[in-house]
Amino acid sequence: MILKKISCEMGVKSYIVGGYIRDKILNLESNDIDITVEGDGIRYALMLNKFLNGKIEIHEKFKTAKIQADKYTFDVVSARKEYYTHSGILPDVELADIVEDIKRRDFTINMLAFDIKEGMIIDLCNGLDDIKNKIIRVVHDKSFNDDPTRIFRALRYSVRLDFKLEPHTELLLKQSIANGDIDNLSTDRIMNEIYLIFSEKNPETIVKLMKHYRIDEKIFDGIKINIRNLNTCVRCGDLLLYRFLLFFYNVKKDDLDYLNEKFNFKRQYSKGLSDLIEIKMNLYTLKDDIVVYNLFKDKKIEAINAIYTMEGENIKKIVDRYFEVIRSLKLEINGDDIKELGLRPSPIYKKILDNIYYDKICGKIRSKEDEFERLKQYVEKVKRGEKI
Ligand code: ATP
Ligand code: MG
Repeated sequence: MILKKISCEMGVKSYIVGGYIRDKILNLESNDIDITVEGDGIRYALMLNKFLNGKIEIHEKFKTAKIQADKYTFDVVSARKEYYTHSGILPDVELADIVEDIKRRDFTINMLAFDIKEGMIIDLCNGLDDIKNKIIRVVHDKSFNDDPTRIFRALRYSVRLDFKLEPHTELLLKQSIANGDIDNLSTDRIMNEIYLIFSEKNPETIVKLMKHYRIDEKIFDGIKINIRNLNTCVRCGDLLLYRFLLFFYNVKKDDLDYLNEKFNFKRQYSKGLSDLIEIKMNLYTLKDDIVVYNLFKDKKIEAINAIYTMEGENIKKIVDRYFEVIRSLKLEINGDDIKELGLRPSPIYKKILDNIYYDKICGKIRSKEDEFERLKQYVEKVKRGEKI
């Protein structure tokens, strides 16, 4: 209603386009609303936000604005202005704006637009039928070639919505993969598509399709990608990083430099991957708590979680114990106790507490009294100028 009011007040046509309409028809929840305005999108967004009172981001250069209000995100874009300057206000030319906008989109199911003023759906490419028949279809033969991220998008939609690739579209997709179109994408864009896959509910099936169409071979030059357990979630830590580590679970140490160099992974991802490999190489050493502690203590939680998910019962038990017992072990003494024993604050405090912590994990310390006893010994040593 408010959208219609703004449209009328500004005397412009505006449309809700793309995924939101698709999801509404499918009765799926959708919080991303894309609006195309045939006119000044920024003014439109400002008016909308007066009503919504959300957070607005304006991009003057692209004549777009983003509003975040509660769980909803509104992306408002201005349809191209040049049509107006050419031909004034002829209605059919006005329509050309939204037609242009629609034609630039990836699949027919995303090509529906809802005309806000008229209250009706514009369906130029039989998107409604394709939604009804659960079909993903491109509208021209060069679509994947024009933008190979659509290859990933097609697989994502087909799994998420449980839609089929229309046969000719599937053929084009295969051809595009075989032609190496994906090579035209920067590695950043490729990884971005892969992260989008990891944020889906069912990444496992999507990655299976990636393998089926041999996309992984094109991207990762023979590095074997793991599919197993990709749909699992984590008890703690970052889901995307965790799934990333499962995806690369089979990567060998020798491949690490190559992957890092080619994909320039974000720092925590590359740390996660080297942590994972290091833990895997040392799994056979995990005999007692102190070894576990030493191996796990500075590793990414997500790497430990990935190990838990992928390995057998024995390792699972060890990881459980790490999270539930070893890691949550706390000292009852602290720096104040050291101070009371007459040492001036310095980095030696940390060293003393670390040592006592270590003793506790080893089982040499069992009570608060033990901790104090140990602490006194260390402080004496320090006072005597001995190394601890
Ligand atoms: P999701 O639920 O994944 O956000 P969505 O359909 O909203 O699905 P977005 O990635 O948010 O997808 O993009 C919004 C709209 O922009 C799409 O519906 C599609 O029409 C269009 N679009 C996005 N990426 C492309 C692309 N690579 N090529 C053509 N059109 C695209
Ligand atoms: Mg979206």
